[in-house]
Amino acid sequence: MEQSFIMIKPDGVQRCLVGEIIARFEKKGFTLKGLKLVSVERSFAERHYSDLSAKPFFNGLVEYIVSGPVVAMVWEGKNVVVTGRKIIGATNPADSAPGTIRGDFAIDIGRNVIHGSDSVESARKEIALWFPEGTVGWQTSLHPWIYE
Ligand code: UDP
Ligand code: MG
Repeated sequence: MEQSFIMIKPDGVQRCLVGEIIARFEKKGFTLKGLKLVSVERSFAERHYSDLSAKPFFNGLVEYIVSGPVVAMVWEGKNVVVTGRKIIGATNPADSAPGTIRGDFAIDIGRNVIHGSDSVESARKEIALWFPEGTVGWQTSLHPWIYE
């Protein structure tokens, strides 16, 4: 089953959006496979965003991610990568539709509350980076009520 790496960024934690965000993924029907509150170091944030290292906003982005604890999660389910990005909304909250997490809770692109993997391949890399200890191997008993 497909997995995505979802991270509530420091602003989402500070603004007490952790429960609200987890609830949206849970209520959709996705399954939580990993969860931890962590403060990451600069070098770790740089590795997570290594694809963006040439971007002018890279330093500010790294400063943002290390500015406080983040909630790192692994969510599982059919098409969770693409659907997770829809639940999150467009990168710039000015363009995120109401009803999405960024559309409902964010204003500036540099304070957009949440990260979600952009492909199955990125998800695999990000889960390996953030959860080297592995995730939790459990199965939800709701499966037949969510999938036909
Ligand atoms: N970002 C930014 N300014 C920009 C573009 C992106 O501060 O012009 C930040 C923003 O927090 C975004 C993150 O960098 O979520 C990663 O950028 P990406 O293009 O991967 O967007 P995402 O996948 O998070 O939607
Ligand atoms: Mg991205």
